[in-house]
Amino acid sequence: MKNRDYLLNEYAKLVILKGVNVQKDQIVFIQSSINSAPFARLLTKEAYLAGAGEVIVNFTDEIISREHLIHKSEEKLANVPDYIIRMNEYACENKACFISITSPILGINSDVDSKRLQISSRALNERLKMRRDYLMSNHGQWTVVGYPNPVWAKKVFSGFSEEEAFDRLLESILVACRVDENSFSNWDKHNQKLSRYNKLLTDFNFESLHFKNNLGTDITVGLADDHIWAGGEDVSTFGVRFNPNLPTEENFTMPHKFKVSGKVVATMPLDFQGKLIEDFYLVFEDGKVVDFDAKKEKETLKNILFYDEGASRIGEIALIPDDSPISNSKTLFYNTLFDENASCHMALGAAYPTNTKDGSSLSKEELEKRGCNISGIHVDFMFGSPDMEIIGKKKDQTEVKIFHKGNYCI
Ligand code: ZN
Ligand code: ZN
Repeated sequence: MKNRDYLLNEYAKLVILKGVNVQKDQIVFIQSSINSAPFARLLTKEAYLAGAGEVIVNFTDEIISREHLIHKSEEKLANVPDYIIRMNEYACENKACFISITSPILGINSDVDSKRLQISSRALNERLKMRRDYLMSNHGQWTVVGYPNPVWAKKVFSGFSEEEAFDRLLESILVACRVDENSFSNWDKHNQKLSRYNKLLTDFNFESLHFKNNLGTDITVGLADDHIWAGGEDVSTFGVRFNPNLPTEENFTMPHKFKVSGKVVATMPLDFQGKLIEDFYLVFEDGKVVDFDAKKEKETLKNILFYDEGASRIGEIALIPDDSPISNSKTLFYNTLFDENASCHMALGAAYPTNTKDGSSLSKEELEKRGCNISGIHVDFMFGSPDMEIIGKKKDQTEVKIFHKGNYCI
């Protein structure tokens, strides 16, 4: 790859300055796999150059995590050690910003007992609820970004040597994130475009959206009261601008938890806890999944849907035009951060409170009254296609065509 070191450094700068937008003396908390150590080091350097007060890097290793999952007693699996909770509390209480580096080792947990995976993820979800609330309500800036590893790279570019596959995946990530010598102006322009659609869609104040394509998706998604469309740049409750995902192509909002009806057919596999769910569909009635099937890993899909009361309802609906850098690359990344930006998606589980007016300051009961779904999980899955048609219905029952043949027509 040409200028590899230069581009990687640009990418790190972009994550620090556009992703979390580190403020003077702020704590930066980086969650990284040991496979992403080279990138975590670059981020640490750039964070200090940007004025960070302290950078904390929490490394994990998927192979060691797998050993824990296989060998720990159920009692230990269901318990999150205090030092992990305290580390996260320290970061939240001190208003840190959070960077999470995604680098999946696909299939690593495929032979781990699903029940044990559930116990462990439930424990983490429950004991780290404070961190999830902090992030989902934008009390601090946060961003999720990607970095390759050889296993992931070989899955995406299977016909190449490990080294070449790695380089190709890195290049694809950089292209998807619009990293080049004009990275910053690229992002300014991109954010302006996303913000234009946010405004347009919010002003329509649609009651519902109807999605239809030839694969069998035919679903009406009612929207929450006082919903707000977001996407691209966001603002923390302390007024700091940041980009929660690099890349991002989506405009998303809060569906109404009781007003989703019809069938949605997934168009991409879903990697969940190291298991790959393939060829699946869901049928909703009054917001709840009443029927589903998957050709592969149906059990894992079932575990998601039965996680808690909110897990069989949706908390996010996102529009992504078929004409985007990720979609145009025709690359299947087997990872939600990238694949969700190639395709319209929805999320089973929790909604973002910020997707409704003044949502961050509302109580749980007030949020639920607006149709906000509450859950311990948030799992995005993709259902967009090049022939997707979307029609919005306004409060006065007039209709507006939003997507024609997979792209915006407003
Ligand atoms: Zn989304
Ligand atoms: Zn999501």
